[in-house]
Amino acid sequence: MEAVVECAKCECCGLVEDCTRDYILGVRAAFGGRWLCGLCSEAVRDEAARGTTARGPAAAAAGLEDALRDHMAFCGKCRRSPAFRVADGMRQMLRRCSK
Ligand SMILES: [Zn+2]
Repeated sequence: MEAVVECAKCECCGLVEDCTRDYILGVRAAFGGRWLCGLCSEAVRDEAARGTTARGPAAAAAGLEDALRDHMAFCGKCRRSPAFRVADGMRQMLRRCSK
C-alpha cells in the first residue's frame, strides 16, 4: 500500500504539505489547476457554496473562481498580521493528508 507522496504548496497561504499524488490531482482539478491546503480549500468551497444557489454548473464554477480570488486576497492580508502565526500553528496541527 505505497502511495506516491509529493510536496505541494498552497497558492493561497503558501503552506507546504506532503500529499499523495491522487490528492494533489484531485484538488487541482477542483480549483482550475491550483493547489490549496485543506483549510484554504474548505474556506473557498464554503464561500462558493454560499455565493451560488442552484444556478447551474457554470455559475458554480464562476462562483468558485470568485471565492478563490477573494480568499487569496484575504490570505495575503492575514500573512502580514501577527494573528497569522497562530493560524499557521493551527494549520500544522490540522494537516492530515500525508498519511
Ligand atoms: Zn492555504
